[in-house]
Amino acid sequence: MIERDYLVVGAGTAGVSVCEGIRQYDKRGKVMLVGNENYSPYSRTALSKRFLSDKDFSPEGTAYHPAEWFQEQKIDLRLNTVVTQFNIDRHLAVLSNGQTVEFKKACLATGSRPLRPQVAGTNLGNIIYLRSMGDAKALKEMAAIEGSIMVVGSGFIAVEAAAALRTTRCKVSLLTRDAALWSQMLDAETATWLTNLFRHHGVTLHLQENLNGFEGKTVLRNIQTKNGNRYPASLALVAVGAEMNLELVRNTPLNSPKGTPVNEFLETDEKGIYAAGDIALYPDRIFGGVRRTDHWDNARQQGLFAGANMTGKKRQRYDHLPQYTSELFDLTLDFLGNFGNGAPLQPVLDGSREKKSFAVRYLQGDKLQAAFLCNRPADEVAALADDLRAAHVKG
Ligand SMILES: Cc1cc2nc3c(=O)[nH]c(=O)nc-3n(C[C@H](O)[C@H](O)[C@H](O)COP(=O)(O)OP(=O)(O)OC[C@H]3O[C@@H](n4cnc5c(N)ncnc54)[C@H](O)[C@@H]3O)c2cc1C
Repeated sequence: MIERDYLVVGAGTAGVSVCEGIRQYDKRGKVMLVGNENYSPYSRTALSKRFLSDKDFSPEGTAYHPAEWFQEQKIDLRLNTVVTQFNIDRHLAVLSNGQTVEFKKACLATGSRPLRPQVAGTNLGNIIYLRSMGDAKALKEMAAIEGSIMVVGSGFIAVEAAAALRTTRCKVSLLTRDAALWSQMLDAETATWLTNLFRHHGVTLHLQENLNGFEGKTVLRNIQTKNGNRYPASLALVAVGAEMNLELVRNTPLNSPKGTPVNEFLETDEKGIYAAGDIALYPDRIFGGVRRTDHWDNARQQGLFAGANMTGKKRQRYDHLPQYTSELFDLTLDFLGNFGNGAPLQPVLDGSREKKSFAVRYLQGDKLQAAFLCNRPADEVAALADDLRAAHVKG
């Protein structure tokens, strides 16, 4: 039996940040970080952007720390290792190599995986789902070999990957059930502007098409839609959403359809067990209610907060404005605030879409809820973030 003061399950952004948070306040506690991937913890953000567009981009550049850092910090990093069992009552975990770990405190940071659509043919060859470094490497190589790709979906990852691949020699088509790109978040005019920009860059768009299935014997040949259309495709990236990795806590109170519930200190109802990153369902101290955020900044900050709180030497309430930065062609785009509360938002434009420099504020009544900025300086992004906080946090 291995004994550890802290066990961190999942070696992604949240997991490595938990370790950093612990080490800020506890230099000696025994820490184990377990991840089922082959790579030292890295950021996924470049995988749908520069990693695909830049042939010289080195995947090593996305790692948070060199291997020596984990040794220096005395963090027992176990790569290629799955936590197969997690016993909440006894504070025991079983690793895929058969070892058992007894821990004092643990943080679950198991993240998400790509959603597979419920249609025929999703396991055919040359259909790629993008989450890991391995997926991104395969996508980049296959796109170079095939010379063309169909991207299915129109969320962040689909749209970013379509843009990045288009800047290479690859022919890119994009198929989505939506009438415009990012229309789930943006107002109709901004989404239409973005959609036209993709056309201008030579991306073939198949809009308002519902996926019906993938065809091929062993390898993808066609993509069928519910409208009865059949599009030839030898390679597809399917990016239609993500689902949480919560199997480890299935049938426990730490699993809910909306995520793992935590309090404002990121601790679950089970004392000593925390959750951070894509899986954490946390009280939203800015917009109210509870929220789950599957963005990088949230995973990073929650990891740091959870790690610090786990040591018992610091007790910080998690307080965070949702934000996401994207890159498409020559655009840097910032999303701030609450796009998804269901109620209609009133857009107010400042600047010019044609000149690719603008900010849209989204209001409900006269209250600022969210903002979208295109090629605007960092100080303006920060000022709008402050405005959003000020509009919602009293005192
Ligand atoms: C291609 C791509 C691009 C993105 N770009 C952006 C961006 O530009 N901006 C942004 O804000 N967000 C972006 N995101 C989202 C962001 O990367 C995630 O929100 C973030 O990675 C979440 O971190 P996490 O640590 O919670 O989960 P993950 O990064 O998913 O890490 C969890 C890790 O735990 C492992 N794991 C799961 N179960 C077990 C187990 N039982 N045992 C051991 N290991 C386990 C998983 O395999 C994984 O390695 C992007 C995501 C992707 C996929």
